[in-house]
Amino acid sequence: MKKFLSILLLMSLLFTMFASVGHAAGTPPKLFLNGKELHSDVEPKIVNGSTLVPLAILSEGLGYEVEWEPETKKVTVKNEMTVIELVINQSSVRVNGVVMETDAKPQLMNWRTMVPVRLVGELLGLSFEWKEAAREVHMFEKSTEPDPETPVVGYITAVTMDEQSVIRIAHAGASAPGKPMVLDNPRRLVFNFPYTTFIPQIADQFVGGQTETLVADNPLLTAYRYSQFSTQPLTARLVIVVGNDTGYVVTSGDNEISIALMPKAEVPTEPAEPEMPVDPKPTPPPVENPEVYDIVLDAGHGAKDPGAYSKPLNKWEKEFNLSAVLKVKAELEKDPRFKVHLTRKDDTFVELLDRVKFAESVKADIFISIHANSYDNTSVSGVETYYERANSKPLADIIHKHVLAGMGLRDRGVKKAAFKVIKETTMPAILIEAGYLTNTTDANALFNAKTQDKLAVEIVKGIKTYLKLK
Ligand SMILES: [Zn+2]
Repeated sequence: MKKFLSILLLMSLLFTMFASVGHAAGTPPKLFLNGKELHSDVEPKIVNGSTLVPLAILSEGLGYEVEWEPETKKVTVKNEMTVIELVINQSSVRVNGVVMETDAKPQLMNWRTMVPVRLVGELLGLSFEWKEAAREVHMFEKSTEPDPETPVVGYITAVTMDEQSVIRIAHAGASAPGKPMVLDNPRRLVFNFPYTTFIPQIADQFVGGQTETLVADNPLLTAYRYSQFSTQPLTARLVIVVGNDTGYVVTSGDNEISIALMPKAEVPTEPAEPEMPVDPKPTPPPVENPEVYDIVLDAGHGAKDPGAYSKPLNKWEKEFNLSAVLKVKAELEKDPRFKVHLTRKDDTFVELLDRVKFAESVKADIFISIHANSYDNTSVSGVETYYERANSKPLADIIHKHVLAGMGLRDRGVKKAAFKVIKETTMPAILIEAGYLTNTTDANALFNAKTQDKLAVEIVKGIKTYLKLK
């Protein structure tokens, strides 16, 4: 066993060395902010798949506040909301006081401090695009060039509990948590807030990565605690240690999410949670009088907008999206109760707003956008299904299970995010990220014809389940 382990280790070391040699041999990448090239005296370098840039690019090029402490080899980068602390050659990074592991670390090269630009930029709210062929890193400030693929990061600004056992999470732009996980011994409600972090004033108070408040003499709860559960994807977590008879109602507003704890018997039976609304569409009519359902299938990207790049297969996201959509269409059309409308049926470019208008104009009953994801870290893999409006969550929950079955990849969950096509449409609308093009296993599945066929069959099964069709 030991021998086997050491051989594995040796192999991985060799692989890492070859990988670095390969990368180092390439031409240095170019950096762009909002389409404008950023220049510096030292060229950016790609090391193990992450782009390192001199610190000056972050301050002069991107306008962040930057500090360098030579004694401790510590780099601090901040904007109004976020403080990032990195140490040369260390893979752990502190973000608003919370320690996170990453695979991109800052390095000293020729006596210059080089920092991983994507790690820092994404934490500070930039979106990124890597153009492989041109070896260009494109960064976009979300205010000027909102990237529909990258959800906006929300911040928790305060967590308090009142006399009525209502826990209030004050926030700026945070997404409502999904249904909590319920764990036992002791019984806990675990709420995850996707794409959410804490302002520094809260994170600075963390002890051992979290803040815990004990509650005495309350049968509904004995404690609650919150932490930065994960950074990839960015997830804040609230855990409430509750009694066996404690129920809850979640209400979410623009700047506050409240979780009201109450005895189970007092929880309204039709949940008042905005997360799980009653489907606003009328129940489909009985099968003997079938109605025709208008389904809009949206193949993400197209033509000049190729989407993400799959290095393992040298293919673009737009190709997968279209191929998958055409297969879902063919599968749906086997059933005369479906009328399928495509936002694009070939390699053409369609604006996001035109996709929205199109879905509205055909009075779609269901809108499904198909995409594939990408990430710097090639080990990230799996299926995500996104919704934005509450009336889309039931559709997302059902279709997600079927996409998982079709792709056979990791479950990354149903998530809420403000992609334009699912936000600005009015019918139940979801966006599927069927896998990661940057992960070899996922990429092979995404471009495998049999897997695509299976995906199509499963999505159609999901649509039928959702519409309660036999
Ligand atoms: Zn996409």
